[in-house]
Amino acid sequence: MGVKPADALQKELRRIDGKGYKAYKDIAGSYDYKNFRLHIDHVQGDPFAAPSRIRVRVPRSDSGFPEDTTCNRSRVVALGDFLTRRFYTQSKSLARGIRGTGKGGKITIDRPGQQILNRSSLLINNDCIEARFFMGLPAFGRKIAGRDAEEMFFTELPAIVDTSLFFSAIDENNLYLHLKTAEDADAARDQLSQKNMIAFIADGSLLPRRSGIDDRPLKDPEAVLFKSDDTFRITLDLPNSGKTPGMGIPRGVTLIAGGGYHGKSTLLHALERGIYNHVPKDGRHCAVTVENAVKIRACDGRNIEKTDISPFISNLPLHKDTSAFSTQNASGSTSQAANILEAVEAGAEALLLDEDTSATNFMIRDRRMQQLVAKDSEPITPFIDKVRQLYSEKGVSTVLVMGGSGDYFNVADQVIRMTAYLPEDATDAAKEIARADPAGRREEGGENFGRIASRIPEAKSISVYRRNKKMKIAGRGIREILLGETDVDLSDLEQLVDPSQTRAVANAVYYATRYMNDGLPLREVAEKVIADVEKNGLDVLVPNITGDLARIRRVDIAAAVNRIRTLRVSQA
Ligand code: ADP
Ligand code: MG
Repeated sequence: MGVKPADALQKELRRIDGKGYKAYKDIAGSYDYKNFRLHIDHVQGDPFAAPSRIRVRVPRSDSGFPEDTTCNRSRVVALGDFLTRRFYTQSKSLARGIRGTGKGGKITIDRPGQQILNRSSLLINNDCIEARFFMGLPAFGRKIAGRDAEEMFFTELPAIVDTSLFFSAIDENNLYLHLKTAEDADAARDQLSQKNMIAFIADGSLLPRRSGIDDRPLKDPEAVLFKSDDTFRITLDLPNSGKTPGMGIPRGVTLIAGGGYHGKSTLLHALERGIYNHVPKDGRHCAVTVENAVKIRACDGRNIEKTDISPFISNLPLHKDTSAFSTQNASGSTSQAANILEAVEAGAEALLLDEDTSATNFMIRDRRMQQLVAKDSEPITPFIDKVRQLYSEKGVSTVLVMGGSGDYFNVADQVIRMTAYLPEDATDAAKEIARADPAGRREEGGENFGRIASRIPEAKSISVYRRNKKMKIAGRGIREILLGETDVDLSDLEQLVDPSQTRAVANAVYYATRYMNDGLPLREVAEKVIADVEKNGLDVLVPNITGDLARIRRVDIAAAVNRIRTLRVSQA
């Protein structure tokens, strides 16, 4: 498989023009263009199939990107993101798009949203810059449209490459702004732990989004910019922006209170997304959260496999064991308990909860209800009685949106009151109310939090083969993966933001099975997968290079494994 001159591809396309679609297979291979090398890795089988996988590689020295665009990991990731966006917009404007039958004629690359994620779409190293993208090879019916293909490979593609993978064609100011924004966000996130913080939101951030399905910043001249109040204000020193004041959320138990519609959920949402860097002008580009902060919600109907939920649930009717609890159909409260315990098992550092998406009976049981239903006929120990132990014993912080129950004043380290979208410190006021007007409820949490069981997954309980023996590992949208005959519902993993992450999760789950045979707990399995990705890139997750994978966390892998309905585990 030597490298052929680009002319050879041109000749080949002329030769197969008008022939049956299968003849396209003959163009697979590598070709030298004037200023880049083209690799046609996989040729689609028909015009309706998934488009062909193509790469273009430019020698690093020819691409002209200065040393300082790749001098650290933050910048490398941000450069890859920037170039992916550039390649995407250039392919929109310089390629004619769909022509002929099926998806023929399209040249596409992964399309990033508001987040700057490490992606497999752009490989950057000391030797090269390589774009991984997709082309729909054109046809009329099942006949090869060779002239159209020639136009794509010899007019459109070179124009896209020339204007997106070479420094001379890039707007320098925009590029450096992109790199510096990501670098500052990473630096801010890195400073959290030494300051004993789990999150930071810079003054001047714009948190609200355009809509529930549009992640871009709210476009409204009236929108209120975030501003910390004095007690929570800290100042970070960032490499590019310098001294940056904003609100720090300390470790421990934090309550976000406030009236309905005053911005509580919007703030929590920003914390959920603060695990990612955002593009300049996103509004959240300097709002960061520790990497292993996990959004928790109730998700009734999910399966649970031998999770020890006894810290929260015990004494079930019919004496069902809750120290290794299994079900194919969890209730709201049980699912939320399992979500928390599994997240902690997988290494969560902070939990983010919103009353809007929590099971009420999991969150609170007030004095009156304690009187009506005796403890021995109530299986649930509510979160309020465990949240402190979770922090003091397990080191796991909680941020909780709670506008509905003042009982939580007793257990909070700090109370943030949102008023007209701005935070105020209401800790003293809340503590004073708790003192003057006791909740009068009995604490039910017991002496200790209880056990976080680590579970050992069985590789053979995860199959990626369909009945016809073909492998199937795929993502469908953002919140579902397909493994063989099994659909895995990820609808409660609200921190996944991109279909390429979901594809990465699907492949990571299968990749993880290689580590499941040595009796390793799920957490370590997920850690090993992430370590491999960090060392060798997202490419390790797939047998063939593909440009549509994006960064995931170990907690995401563990969460997906936990939601596979065929999963079998044993407790360590
Ligand atoms: P809560 O959870 O307190 O009920 P939300 O966070 O859901 O309130 O916010 C209510 C509405 O206000 C949402 O439509 C949201 O987009 C909007 N909003 C939130 N923060 C701001 C802000 N800083 N400026 C303008 N509108 C905002
Ligand atoms: Mg809300």
